Order: sequence, then C-alpha cells, then structure tokens
Amino acid sequence: MRQMKNKNRAEIKRSIFAYFIVFSLIIIAILWLCQTLLLDTFYYRNTLSGMKRVSSSLSEQYMYDNFSDTVESTALKSQYSIRVLRLSNGRVTTLATVETLGSSVHKLTNDQLGYIYEKAAENGNVYYTEVYLHNVFNPIFMREELSAYIPQFDGDMGESNPFSLGIADERLVLCRLVYDENGDALMLLLDSELSPVSSVVSTLRVQLSFISLIILLLSLLLAKWISGRISRPIVRLNDKAKRLADGGYGVDFSGDGYREICELGDTLNDASEKLSALDRMQKELIANISHDLRTPLTMIKGYAELMRDIDSENTPENMQVIIDETERLNELVADIMQISKVQSESESVTLEVFDLSQSINEIIERYRRLKHSEGFDFELHIADSSVIKADKGKILQVICNLLNNAINYTRNGKVIINCFNSDGFVHVDIIDRGEGIPAEELPNIWQRYYKVDKTHTRSRVGSGLGLSIVRGILELHHARYGVQSTLGDGSRFWFELPLFKSL
Ligand code: ADP
Repeated sequence: MRQMKNKNRAEIKRSIFAYFIVFSLIIIAILWLCQTLLLDTFYYRNTLSGMKRVSSSLSEQYMYDNFSDTVESTALKSQYSIRVLRLSNGRVTTLATVETLGSSVHKLTNDQLGYIYEKAAENGNVYYTEVYLHNVFNPIFMREELSAYIPQFDGDMGESNPFSLGIADERLVLCRLVYDENGDALMLLLDSELSPVSSVVSTLRVQLSFISLIILLLSLLLAKWISGRISRPIVRLNDKAKRLADGGYGVDFSGDGYREICELGDTLNDASEKLSALDRMQKELIANISHDLRTPLTMIKGYAELMRDIDSENTPENMQVIIDETERLNELVADIMQISKVQSESESVTLEVFDLSQSINEIIERYRRLKHSEGFDFELHIADSSVIKADKGKILQVICNLLNNAINYTRNGKVIINCFNSDGFVHVDIIDRGEGIPAEELPNIWQRYYKVDKTHTRSRVGSGLGLSIVRGILELHHARYGVQSTLGDGSRFWFELPLFKSL
C-alpha cells in the first residue's frame, strides 16, 4: 500500500538528471545573453569607463610642464585621440593634442564644441556623446543632432537608419572640464572608436553553439554518473531493508558510496541488531513468563485440590500459600501491563506538587514493617525536604522497583537510601551491597525483558521489566538517571529530578 503511494514520487535518479539539465540550460542561456545581446552594452560601458579613468588622471596633471608629453604617451597607450583646449576670455587655445586616425574631436565645429562645453558645465563637468563621422563628405554629427534631424532616431545606428548603411563611423567623445587657478576652463576631449560588435557576435554565436553542445553533453554524462552513484547504494539498502522487514535479522547493511549512505547502513545495522535482540528477549520472556505463570498456577491448583479432597488439609497455612501465589501472579501481570503503558506513546504524566523526601520516608517505613521479619535492614538518609512537581504515582513506582531490585540482589540484607538536594535538583540513591553487575552488561539492563542472570530461579523473582519501567517513567519526566556498579561489591542506582520552584 505504502509502496503504491510512493510510486507517484520522483526517483532520485530522474530528479538529479532533471536538475542538471535545467542548471546547464540556465548557464547556456546566461552565456548567450551576455555574449550576444548584452555584448554591445558591456562594450560601450567598458569603453566609457576607460575614457573616464584616463580623463580623470589627465585632469590632475595639466599644471605640469611636461603635460603635452603626458598627453602623448597617454594617447599612445590608450589608443584615444586627445585634444586639450583652454578657454580664456572668449579665446580658445590648444594646450595639447594627439590625433589618431578617424579622430572626431579634431573635426568638431565651434558650435558643437560650445554645445559640449555647456552640457559638461551643466552635468558636473563631465559629458559624453556618440558622434557619427560621415566617410564621404566628412560632416560630423553628434547623437543629439541626429535626433533632431530624424524624429524616430533612438541613438542606435541600426540598419534601418539612413545614416548607417556602412557610410558612417560611430565614435564616442568624452569631455571633462577642469578649472585652473586663474579660473580658466580646460576642456579635456577624448575620442574613441566604437567598433561595430555585430561581426564579433556572429563569430561568438558559432563558438557558443559548440560550447553549449559540449556543456549539455558533459552535464548529461555527469548527471548519469552522479545519479547512479547516489541511487544505486540506496536501492541496495532498500532491498536489504525489505528483507529485514520480512524478519531476516541477519542482513548486513554496511554499504559503500557517500558518507551519509554508509551512516544510514550503520544505523540500519544497529536497528537490525536491536530488533533481533528484542526478538530474542521476547521469546525468552514468553518462556520465562509461562514458567513464572505456571509455577504459581500449579501450586494454586495443587493446594486447592488437596484442600478439596482431604478435609484435614483445609488449613489457614495452605490457604495462605494460595493467597501468596495469587499475589505473585498479580504482580507479574501488573508489571506486564505497566510496561506496555509506559512504552506506548499515549502514556501521559499527571503532574502534582509533593514532597519526595516525605514520600520516600513513608515507603521505607512500609518496607521496614513488611521485610523486617525476613532480616532486611533499610538505612535511610534524608538531608532536606525536596518538593518536586511530577507524577507522584509513577515516581513512587520507580522507587519501589529500585528497592525491590536492591532487596532481590543484596547479600547482607542491607539497603541504603539517600535523598538530598543539590543545584536545584533532588538526588536519590538506592544502594545495595550485592553481587553487582558486570560492566559490559550495564547498558543492557535498562532494556525490556533483559536479565543478567539467564538461569531462571524462583529466588530471583522478576520479569526483566522492572528497570525498563523505571527508564520509561524517568524519561517521561526528562529526568537524569544512571547506575554505578562494581562486581562483587554492589550497585548504586540513582536519579535526579528538578526541585519545584514556587513563583
Ligand atoms: P528483574 O525483574 O529481572 O529484576 P529488572 O529490569 O529490574 O528485571 O532488572 C534487569 C536486570 O538487571 C536484572 O535481571 C538483574 O540482572 C540486573 N539488576 C537490576 N538491579 C540489580 C541490582 N541491584 N544488583 C544486581 N543486578 C541488578
């Protein structure tokens, strides 16, 4: 059913393929856009910023004696035509000039120069315009003049324009105004060729077609390789997981490939080991429980029959045996019910504020009365009053379970209980001087159905559920808990709960 539902979802392999193709198509589109449509704009901006930079550097050197040499070397380096004019009392003198082939700044009329000067003065001392040089008659038009002649002219010398048709050169003129110490204006005029980019574009188009094809092919190959590398181990893990789901606990998930996939394999191995351990323990539990159930049942049946058949056996002692065995059965069934409750998600805690130290005192009193005749001795150390907010019934069950274990496993009959406050927490210890627990078994004892001593003796009553119930309850309360144990010396089980702070 679940698999049917997943059929509609995309496969990793296909998705990676699709992402790669989309990614490479975007790259190709950007390349085409930049190299063809936007080439014109990039070229224009680049030329303009170069001219601005050169004019700005020249504007800082006009006062030096060797200015004309500087202009000359600058023009040589930059390939610009340069003309520097001084405007003083209505007179125009040339300060420096370098004319390269096709220069437009040297052909501008006085009116055009005047227009450029005014525009520069208005625009923060810098002004630039495209200029069209007619090859035959050599008239020179600025962009603004053309706009005036042809109303629909938008500044683009496209093929539809009568001024193009291959007879006009397009150039860029930049003017920077500088004022010297006398207040005279210097006009720095720079001229650069604007090469038509259309021929470059057509070459680029051919080249780009090849590049696009190569990118597409490479991305297809790469997508195939990567998607295979990622999906193959996942498919393999999935097949093994299906075997695990069918009860094959022995499958080995250790995989190859990327780290995350190897980690997933390790996690599945771990889960598989835990599942098989749980399965084993569950089987053991059924065997144990049936044994535990059968023993008291046999006793009850035997004694009941005895009392029915032989009048003299109808004694209070025999009746007490039946009651004791029934009680033992009752405890076992209660344990099994409790574990299933604590471990089901639905179990919730009912919080109440109570004094834990007082409750411990009461419990120990009860245990003393009950167990005194069997020779048990309870040593209780309560340092403070410890008010907490918790599920009282459940926390008391934790204490009883730990006490029962201590009683079960102590060798000298002594059980020590500490209860004290520290750093905003109440700390409880339950200590016995029993046989202790081997270090390698310590992590396992909290698991359901786990028993260190697998031999099933009547003296050690227990379902292997007690500590699992303790763990379940303490985790419901987000409590810290643990155990310290030395083989042959005894064990100390402890837990900590936050003290209740009244507002
Ligand atoms: P059980 O009902 O068998 O006592 P628990 O879950 O309470 O089950 O404990 C699990 C196992 O941990 C026990 O079978 C026992 O081997 C070990 N254990 C628990 N408490 C003690 C203790 N105080 N001293 C020694 N071993 C203990």
